[in-house]
Amino acid sequence: MTIYVNEKCRRCGESLTGGYVPNYFSVGSPISKCLKCGTLYSRGSKQNEWALIGPVRKMGLLLLSTYWGLAWAATLGGLVLPALIAASTGSEMGTVLVEGYTWIIPLSLSLGGGFSFLGLYRQILASNRRMKDPNYKLQLRQLGYEVT
Ligand SMILES: [Zn+2]
Repeated sequence: MTIYVNEKCRRCGESLTGGYVPNYFSVGSPISKCLKCGTLYSRGSKQNEWALIGPVRKMGLLLLSTYWGLAWAATLGGLVLPALIAASTGSEMGTVLVEGYTWIIPLSLSLGGGFSFLGLYRQILASNRRMKDPNYKLQLRQLGYEVT
């Protein structure tokens, strides 16, 4: 889930991205800082603070999380849990699992969805924490973000 992008600092030529960056939009700081000379850059098109993301993009992020949640659920319910059942067939644990087979779908959905949404939730919490820092908000304003 990464693509090779080597953005370089316009002032000193140092690599800003280190080569690989995520190729999807995510919640995170839109500020990129040159480690060599300290110049600040905006990468708001790649990632941005939750409070600065528009409603359409927020919806997109929720849909993406739903998609990943379903993908995890399909992996768990289609591979992991049946494999567990197969491995323990004949044993007491196997009997319990087979009897609980109808629980696989809701269990997989809650685990997969929970895992996926928890990831987004943690990103949003971290974003809200950054947005409480007045110095950080000042940097955002300097880069042209409308921060209240
Ligand atoms: Zn630089």
